[in-house]
Amino acid sequence: MKTIIIGGGLAGLAAAYRLADKDEITIIEKDNELGGMASSYSIEIPGSKNGVYHIEKYYHHIFASDRELISLIEELGLGSRLEWLRGTTGYFFNGKIYPMNTPLEILRALPLMDVIRLTWLVMKARTIKDRTPFDDITAKQWILDTAGESVYNNFFLPLLSSKFGDNKDKVSAAWLLGRVQIRSNRGAKGERLGYMRGGFHALVVAMADKLKEKGCKILEGDVSRIEINNGVVKGVVVDGKNIECDRVISTVAPNVLEKIMDIENSGISTDISYQGTACALFGLKEKVMEDTYWLNIKEDVPFGAVIEHTNFIPEQDYGEHLMYVTSYFQNPESALWKKSNDEVIELYLKGLEKLFPGIRGKVNWWRLRRDIDTAPVYEVGYGKKVLPYKTNIKGLYLAGMFSEANYPERSMNGSIVAGFRCAETVQNS
Ligand SMILES: Cc1cc2nc3c(=O)[nH]c(=O)nc-3n(C[C@H](O)[C@H](O)[C@H](O)COP(=O)(O)OP(=O)(O)OC[C@H]3O[C@@H](n4cnc5c(N)ncnc54)[C@H](O)[C@@H]3O)c2cc1C
Repeated sequence: MKTIIIGGGLAGLAAAYRLADKDEITIIEKDNELGGMASSYSIEIPGSKNGVYHIEKYYHHIFASDRELISLIEELGLGSRLEWLRGTTGYFFNGKIYPMNTPLEILRALPLMDVIRLTWLVMKARTIKDRTPFDDITAKQWILDTAGESVYNNFFLPLLSSKFGDNKDKVSAAWLLGRVQIRSNRGAKGERLGYMRGGFHALVVAMADKLKEKGCKILEGDVSRIEINNGVVKGVVVDGKNIECDRVISTVAPNVLEKIMDIENSGISTDISYQGTACALFGLKEKVMEDTYWLNIKEDVPFGAVIEHTNFIPEQDYGEHLMYVTSYFQNPESALWKKSNDEVIELYLKGLEKLFPGIRGKVNWWRLRRDIDTAPVYEVGYGKKVLPYKTNIKGLYLAGMFSEANYPERSMNGSIVAGFRCAETVQNS
């Protein structure tokens, strides 16, 4: 059987990885590199003539619960690169950084009553096994009912605002419970996060190499149409050319899917809102924060988080300090989407100067990555909107950030699992 996979992100690569032994697979990716949201920059190592290092365009780390991804990394012979390091977090408010890693530090940053109520909320969240009923109530309502207004305002509101902007009041309690369950297992010394030394670039390269070894074709091209005749997939149109096939696995966001096929008569509902991300990476002469990897911010600045990567992975790996500054945006009218790269960076630098006066003088270079479809908005009722692996169109399958494996939070693990489960569905059909 001839199968075309649209998209060379992790979901597409994972589906191909499981099908390549059995099927004739072609991956078609519109960008000139693989990896999608998990792709990386190649940056010249300072002071070296030819050497480069790889660093993700969007900040990435993994959790101990990302089982399938960890197994895949090991299966590909890359297990020795995976390290579990302390990922320190902090909160910027009232003009300073409050570390938030240990119960004692949280106690210093929040009023005692809030800490007691927050602890109660976390304990309650961790006992909930079935999150389904919580898909129908908002996170805000559940926090207010469980821990009260002060915990909501002091702790969750800035987090929800930085993650979902104007959509924060729509987000479901099921999403929140999932996040709390993944993130609350910190122990007395703080949370350990996983990272592949040398970057997740090596994972993408190893998957692509294995696929080529198995005879899978990887083409660069923009799929503009999925050809369907009488409810049966016939092929795709890529850069004006027809390619026939028996099956298509699409990994593109729902709003792209509806542009490349006749969605109205397909029985596929693409009613999932996505949000965009504008993420700057700064190469720096010296470090900015003492020991904080991830800084959430409760100040009036045009970004939600500052992530000093080299406070997580040693600066020696790169020969310089690296820091992400990032914000989600909710619609294409946002200044973060409409303004030029230079303007967005200027906006970010002005905001950074408020938090870290003099930071401009530390910046050697910057890069900016922006995409409009970087994460579904996990609003109330989202659980019912996830897209199926198998559609009613014969030969059309779907896997990606919109799949059940990526709920309650999209992740590399979620997309790998979505790719695997979709491949399994294809094989069982
Ligand atoms: C800001 C940010 C931070 C993140 N941080 C983490 C993290 O810390 N840990 C973690 O585990 N995960 C993280 N993720 C999530 C993770 O990167 C994604 O869940 C995963 O990479 C998505 O893979 P995918 O294959 O489902 O989708 P994508 O990566 O979006 O792949 C889809 C591919 O389809 C291609 N495509 C689109 N349209 C067409 C077309 N018409 N023709 C051909 N190709 C097309 C795209 O170019 C893309 O390569 C983060 C994501 C973002 C955006």
